[in-house]
Amino acid sequence: MRIIIEAHLVDDREQTERVQLCAFERELTTDPIGMSLAEGKALLAAAQRYFVRGQCAGISCGHARCEVCDAKLSLKGWHQRKIRTAFGLVQVPSPRVRYCSCAGQPDGATFSPLSKVVPHGMTPELEYLQVKWAAHLSYADACSLLREVLPVEQAISVTGVKRRVRVVGQELELASERPSSNPQPQMPPVTAVAVDSGWLKHCCPPRRHNRNVNVVVGRACFQGGTTRLYSYVHNQVPSSSARLDQFLDSCGVGHDERVTVVSDGAGEFQKAVDGTARPLCRILDWFHIAMKFRSIELCALKFPRMLAPNGRLLRDEVQACKWLTWHGKAGAAVARLKEIHDVLDGKDELEYFNLYWSVRRTWGYLSLNDRYLVNYCRRHHRNLPISSAIAESAVNQVVSLRMAKKRQMRWSDQGAHLLAQVRVTDLNGELRPRAFAVPWRPPAKLNGWDDPFLRPYLQA
Ligand SMILES: [Zn+2]
Repeated sequence: MRIIIEAHLVDDREQTERVQLCAFERELTTDPIGMSLAEGKALLAAAQRYFVRGQCAGISCGHARCEVCDAKLSLKGWHQRKIRTAFGLVQVPSPRVRYCSCAGQPDGATFSPLSKVVPHGMTPELEYLQVKWAAHLSYADACSLLREVLPVEQAISVTGVKRRVRVVGQELELASERPSSNPQPQMPPVTAVAVDSGWLKHCCPPRRHNRNVNVVVGRACFQGGTTRLYSYVHNQVPSSSARLDQFLDSCGVGHDERVTVVSDGAGEFQKAVDGTARPLCRILDWFHIAMKFRSIELCALKFPRMLAPNGRLLRDEVQACKWLTWHGKAGAAVARLKEIHDVLDGKDELEYFNLYWSVRRTWGYLSLNDRYLVNYCRRHHRNLPISSAIAESAVNQVVSLRMAKKRQMRWSDQGAHLLAQVRVTDLNGELRPRAFAVPWRPPAKLNGWDDPFLRPYLQA
């Protein structure tokens, strides 16, 4: 059996051309059912080639005469233009046309009609597919995935994918800085913003191998349970508070609306909160506090009979301090931890070393951040966020899963920053093909298939 797939070109309801795209041979008894992946890709590529060439011929013909005064335009020459599409690389003859005298251009100036239509030699959809998959997989994996399912062997490369991510990342960065002229889509009110940061290995030279890339990730929680992410590399933005401001703007938070920011004790978050003119309120997240108490409890396991200064078992006393902090009585907890700390400070034995340090760290953390401690119990019962765990999971989602340390990847500050922009935009469901194709309008009066403007297409 032989299956032939043809394309018919129909112009003004009149069939003008009939071309064979593909022919498949099938042995009915032995061959598998349907088209193979390779045959499907070949068919798509052939159809796309035919489609693109037909369109480009039309566009070239459309430029045979001036759009304004209908004077005949002269051709300077032809060259080949490569157009990368989601269904393969297509090479088409591209005319270079001299401007009309009415266009006010210098004498002899020329333009290429096709470069206006596909300015980067790539369709927005192919760029979108590349950056979307590169946001989730390594550049090489994204490239091989696309090559596996689409006929894009010649159209994409690993370095090309990397370059597209940078270009789109920069574009998203510019778009986030630009105050949006479009009204924000209606979003439910923000209940809290949780912020945390993650670390990546820097790709700097080996002698400075200790450098890391600090990626900050935040997540806004909306009433109703939906969330939205933002991310940046610390030294790639002029100000972290401006960044927070932009993000809240894009979430539809009014300038006088009160928003709670949940974060750990890192000073950079305090700077971000202090720097904005918004009435933000920062609270210390419960997760990090609970972890600190947990480390004391683990160290105290070695001394089950040890007594606290007030005569209670040390284990129970630590529990009591945690209970006080949970119920918003951090002042009392800090005082009682200080007493335990002072007793342990007097002991010189090495076995108390770990216990002493975990108590000291917890006491220091709570007393340093006492302004940001709240009644966590009450917040919890009101279903308000108390933990930056939502931000930790965001760090995992944005940073670790793609740029993970375990994958031995190394990053530059800028590379990580731009990829993070693409990744959060996609995770927020807001990544779209860029609208960079200038809409091409054919002249009001189409002048038919003018011969010199069509000859290379007919020959090809
Ligand atoms: Zn003209």
